[in-house]
Amino acid sequence: MYLCVMNTICHLTQYALQELKDSYPASEIRSICRIVYMDVLHFTNIDIHLRKNEILEKSFANKFTEIVALLKSGHPIQYILGETEFAGLRFEVDALTLIPRPETGELVRWVDGCLDAGLKVLDIGTGSGCIAVTLAHLHPDCRISGVDVSAGAIAVASRNARRNGVEVEWRTGDILCFEQERWDSYDVVVSNPPYVRESEKAGMEERVLRFEPSEALFVPDGDPLLFYRRICEFGREHLNRRGLLFFEINEALGAETLQLMERYGYANLELRQDFCRKDRMVKAELL
Ligand code: SAM
Ligand code: GLN
Repeated sequence: MYLCVMNTICHLTQYALQELKDSYPASEIRSICRIVYMDVLHFTNIDIHLRKNEILEKSFANKFTEIVALLKSGHPIQYILGETEFAGLRFEVDALTLIPRPETGELVRWVDGCLDAGLKVLDIGTGSGCIAVTLAHLHPDCRISGVDVSAGAIAVASRNARRNGVEVEWRTGDILCFEQERWDSYDVVVSNPPYVRESEKAGMEERVLRFEPSEALFVPDGDPLLFYRRICEFGREHLNRRGLLFFEINEALGAETLQLMERYGYANLELRQDFCRKDRMVKAELL
C-alpha cells in the first residue's frame, strides 16, 4: 500500500527514515538520502529541496528501495554506490579499498601545505589512492607515487587517478618487506597504515567489521606500531635529507608513535589532532 505512493523525494525520504531507524540516526539517514539523490538522480542540493514533490521515474523508486534494503542489511552507502567523495574529488571504492575517512582529508591538507614544485612523494598503503590522487591533483608539479600490498586496491587507485585526470606512479608491494625491492628516494613519505588493535574491534561499528577490508585496518595487539616501525626504517633508507614523514595514527598511541619516530632519529616532531580533537596525525623531518 505504502509502496504505491512512494514516488517523490519526500515519500522516499520518509520511507528510508522508517526502514532504517534502527540502523542510523535520523540525521545520517537524511544525509545518505541526499547522497543518493545527488549521485543517482544528479540533483543538486537546491534541486532536492525545490523538487521534493516532483513525481520521479518508477525505476528510480525501485532502485532506491533496493539501496535501502542493502543499507538495512549493513552495507555502507559508499560500497553500494561504488564511489564516494574525498577532498572535493570523486573516488571509486570497492570491498578491497577502505572508505576514505574525513580525518585523512585533514592529513592531506597538512601534507599539501608542505609541498613545493618538483618534490617526490610516496603514499604507503594507498588503498583507493585517495591521498596520492588528491596530492597529485593539488600539485601536478610534484611526482607522486602510491604503493599497496593489494593488487586489487592498486587497480582501483589507478582508475581513480585516471578519472580525476592526474598522473600517479603505482606499484604493488609489501612495505613490511621493502628491502626485497628497489625504491627511488623521496622528499616526502605519507602513510595511513593499518593501526586499529584487534582488541579495539569490540568498540567498532558492525558495518566496518563486516564490509571493510580487515587487512587495511588491523594490527596485532602485541605489535600495534608494526607499520610505523617499518616505515620509519624505510624512511631512513629512502627519504632524502630534510625529507618529511607524515602519518595518520591511532588516537590512543600518539605518545608511543612520537617516541618511536624519535628513536629512529626523526626530528622536529609535530602531533596534530583531528576535528574530533583526537590525536590523529604526526609529521617529522629526517635531518
Ligand atoms: N590510504 C588509504 C586511505 O587513507 O583511505 C587506505 C588506508 S588503509 C588504513 C591501509 C592500507 O594499507 C590498505 O589499503 C592496505 O591494503 C594497505 N596495506 C596493508 N598492509 C600493507 C603492506 N604490508 N604493504 C603495503 N600496504 C599495505
Ligand atoms: N580510522 C579508521 C577507522 O575508522 C582506521 C584507519 C586505519 O587503520 N588506518 O577504523
